[in-house]
Amino acid sequence: MKNIVIFGAPGAGKGTQSDFIVEHFGLTHVSTGDLLRKEIADKTDLGRRIKDIMDAGRLVSDDIVTEMIDKAIAADTKGMLFDGYPRTVAQAESLDQLLAKHGRELTCMVQLDVPREELIRRLLERAKIQGRADDNEETIKNRLDEYNKKTLPVAEYYAAQGKQMLINGTGSIEEIAERIIKAIG
Ligand code: AMP
Repeated sequence: MKNIVIFGAPGAGKGTQSDFIVEHFGLTHVSTGDLLRKEIADKTDLGRRIKDIMDAGRLVSDDIVTEMIDKAIAADTKGMLFDGYPRTVAQAESLDQLLAKHGRELTCMVQLDVPREELIRRLLERAKIQGRADDNEETIKNRLDEYNKKTLPVAEYYAAQGKQMLINGTGSIEEIAERIIKAIG
């Protein structure tokens, strides 16, 4: 059973490529960003607590997302693709513990490598098409800062475990998907 992390900066194409990976390997897709946006859309207590943080492009607390992931793993039987999680080293450590608790182990981490100018171009483009609240210029800057400060060290964490697979994240969507599937396979 495969349990994979897809990793990269905001705008690197994690969501798009996740669709190909889950389809190809028959995995359950879990995106913490999607789960958190649903809490906001459903106007839950949690949604009210996290809205301002997300709108500002800051990370929500590790405890909140880790609890969501714990539930998702408990409900899954196929193997999983984690998208947008882990985003801090503390989350990466939690993920290892949660997988172990369920008798699983992380197979690998796929890191999409995309230059910063290309990330900003894609995020502004997506802002026009999807109208996501956190896809404006100010928030994009915060999200990239959070990524560089808190999330990039996660790549080191997996490199040290020998689980990091660096993939060129530029080119056509199909080309990138092919690279990823080949690397995982
Ligand atoms: P995403 O859809 O992955 O770009 O996530 C959108 C926003 O949700 C982020 O900017 C954070 O505010 C929040 N978020 C998503 N995943 C996490 C996570 N693993 N840890 C903390 N905050 C998260």
